Amino acid sequence: MSTLMPPPPPPNYCAFGSECSSRDGGQEEGPHICSRCKNLSRHELDRKAINTTYDSAHLRLLVEEHFKQLKKEYDERVKRGWGFSCICTDPDYKNVPWRRHFDPEDSSPCGTVRNRGQLCKRCYTKAREQQCSFLIDFDGDREGFPCVWEDPRYNRPQDENWKRGLSDPNWQKDPRKHPNCVRPNRSNQLCRRCYSRMVEISGFGVYFCENSSTLHERWR
Ligand SMILES: [Zn+2]
Ligand SMILES: [Zn+2]
Ligand SMILES: [Zn+2]
Ligand SMILES: [Zn+2]
Repeated sequence: MSTLMPPPPPPNYCAFGSECSSRDGGQEEGPHICSRCKNLSRHELDRKAINTTYDSAHLRLLVEEHFKQLKKEYDERVKRGWGFSCICTDPDYKNVPWRRHFDPEDSSPCGTVRNRGQLCKRCYTKAREQQCSFLIDFDGDREGFPCVWEDPRYNRPQDENWKRGLSDPNWQKDPRKHPNCVRPNRSNQLCRRCYSRMVEISGFGVYFCENSSTLHERWR
């Protein structure tokens, strides 16, 4: 009979040791931040590194290095035309309020997205599981959102204000003469077809933001 032991499981270390988020009681203390903790926000990692029983200065340095590396990888992908990584890794969004407390509770790294500002499939799925309220109003929908003309939320009596809007015959969407909508990236936004039909009509800016083509807050 063989006395060989099965190989030991891969070591699970984390620089946050017993304060690591991966499971109750954390991990053994090790030289690197574990992949699970690396998915936390800057805000959350800074907080952990400040409120620690370990070497705070060292942990803050590791956090700093992690985000430098993340930014480097992000910029490199963009430069090489490899597309965009998940908004959770996007340096421009690292301080948005919802990101601060979003934890995908997963160890694998973020995936890529079609349009900058979207959540990767993993994060989107996890955010749905966690019923995160930011999904309602953010670029999180991997398939995009309905054009405001087709958004079921805009069937209230007061929506006639912006729908009737301007007296131009091309303002209102007419399914008989206008092409079908495509899904925009953001909630409360015109699809690009409706946008190109409407944007030249004078007074557009009364109802929609001219840059993002989203409906102004006051009409929502
Ligand atoms: Zn960890
Ligand atoms: Zn906090
Ligand atoms: Zn992600
Ligand atoms: Zn449309």
